[in-house]
Amino acid sequence: MTETDVIIIGAGASGLMCAIEAGKRGRQVMVLDHANKAGKKILMSGGGRCNFTNYAIDPDNFISNNPHFCKSALSRYSQWDFLALIARYQIPFHERDHGQLFCNDSAKDILNMLLAECAQVGVVVQLNTHIDGIQQLANRFHLKTDHGDFSSQSLVVATGGLSIPKMGATPLGYKIAQQFGINVLPTRAGLVPFTLQPEDKDQFSPLSGIAVPCVVSNKRQSFNENVLFTHRGLSGPAVLQISSYWRAGEDVVINLLPQLNLETELKFKRRQKLKNTLKTILDGYLPKRLIGCLLSDDLLSISLQDLSDRQIQQIAEQLHNWIIKPNGTEGYRTAEVTVGGVDCDALSSKTMECKKVQGLYFVGEVVDVTGWLGGYNFQWAWSSAWCAGQYV
Ligand SMILES: Cc1cc2nc3c(=O)[nH]c(=O)nc-3n(C[C@H](O)[C@H](O)[C@H](O)COP(=O)(O)OP(=O)(O)OC[C@H]3O[C@@H](n4cnc5c(N)ncnc54)[C@H](O)[C@@H]3O)c2cc1C
Repeated sequence: MTETDVIIIGAGASGLMCAIEAGKRGRQVMVLDHANKAGKKILMSGGGRCNFTNYAIDPDNFISNNPHFCKSALSRYSQWDFLALIARYQIPFHERDHGQLFCNDSAKDILNMLLAECAQVGVVVQLNTHIDGIQQLANRFHLKTDHGDFSSQSLVVATGGLSIPKMGATPLGYKIAQQFGINVLPTRAGLVPFTLQPEDKDQFSPLSGIAVPCVVSNKRQSFNENVLFTHRGLSGPAVLQISSYWRAGEDVVINLLPQLNLETELKFKRRQKLKNTLKTILDGYLPKRLIGCLLSDDLLSISLQDLSDRQIQQIAEQLHNWIIKPNGTEGYRTAEVTVGGVDCDALSSKTMECKKVQGLYFVGEVVDVTGWLGGYNFQWAWSSAWCAGQYV
C-alpha cells in the first residue's frame, strides 16, 4: 500500500495545476492517470497551439446550472495569474480575435511548464494506471489499481469530460461522484459541429468548405462568428458556440447578412433604377453557391425592378432568419467539451470540496461548468484546480 497526502486522478490541465499548488504547500502528491502520457488534451488543443486563456474572462462566458458557482474561483485565480506563470517560463504567445491567447510555438510549452512545476515540488505522476475501485475508510481514501493499492487523506477527481474517448476520456469522475452520493447533472456534447437532416445535408453538402460571417442564435444565446459548411453539416466557431446552448429537436436561426438590412438595401437599389437581377446583386454579399442553394433560380433571375415589396421582404427574411433544425451533433467523438457534470451545488465554490464528503474534491471539466470556445475551458481548469490546491 502506497500512502500519501493527496491523490489526484487525472494528469490533465486541472489535475496538474492542483498537484502543483498542493505540492507548493508541502503536501505529498500523487497523480494517477490511465493514459500513457500526461496532458493529451493540452497537446491537441487550439490546433496544437493551446488557447490557454483569454484576456476577457467573465462568468457570463460559462454555462452551468449554477451560474454563480464559477465566480469565486475565476476571481481568485484569474487569467492574469496564469499569464504571470507563462511569463516566468518565457513562453511566447499571441492574441487572436476576442482576446484568445495561443502559444506561438506549441502546446508542448504549456504541458512542459506544468510538468516542470510538478517536478519542482516533488509531485509524482504515475501513468498507465487503471483505477479498479475506491473506498473511504476511517477518513482516508483507498484506491485499488492495477499497479497496487494507494491511500490518501484527500482525493481530487480531475478526470475531465467525455469528449474524444480516443484520447482517454472516461466517465470515471461521474461514477465516483455517484458512488459517494453526489448529484451528477445530465451530460451532453458541447462545442461540437451540427449534423443536418438528410434533405438539408443533400442540399448543403456541396457547399463544403464555404465559411460565412453570421449571427447564429437560439432563445438562449447569440454568437457573431463564422459558420463553416462541411460534408457532414455545419461547423465553424459560431456553430460550435451555439451547440453548447442547443438541445435536441430545437431550431437555430442564422442571420447570413448581419451587417446589412437587406430589405432596405434592395429597396434603395430598386429606387436607384438598378436593372441587375437579384442574383447579381446578392453575389456582392454572399458566396454564389450559397445563394443558389437558398433561393430558386426563377427568383434569382428576376430583375430588381420587377421585384415586389412582398418578395423583397420574403428574401430578406430568408437570408436574415434562415432557420435550421439540426439532426443532431457529431457527439463526443469530435466535441471539445462536455456540458453538465458534477452538480456545483454539491461542492464548495471556495475549495471545490464536496459538502457531504470531507476530503473529496472535483475540479476542471468534470464539474458542471462549461466555458465558451476561446480559452475559457482551460481557464476554468486552472482556476478551479488552483482553489482546490490551496486546501487538499
Ligand atoms: C480537440 C480539443 C481542443 C481543445 N482546445 C481547447 C482550447 O484551445 N482552449 C480551451 O480552453 N479548451 C480547449 N479544449 C477543452 C480543454 O481541453 C478541456 O476543457 C480541459 O482539458 C479540461 O481539463 P481537465 O483537467 O478537467 O480534463 P482533461 O484535460 O481532459 O484531463 C483528464 C485526465 O483524466 C484522465 N482520465 C480520464 N479517465 C480516467 C480514468 N478512468 N482513470 C485514470 N485517468 C483518467 C485522462 O487520461 C486525462 O489525462 C479542447 C478540447 C478538445 C477535445
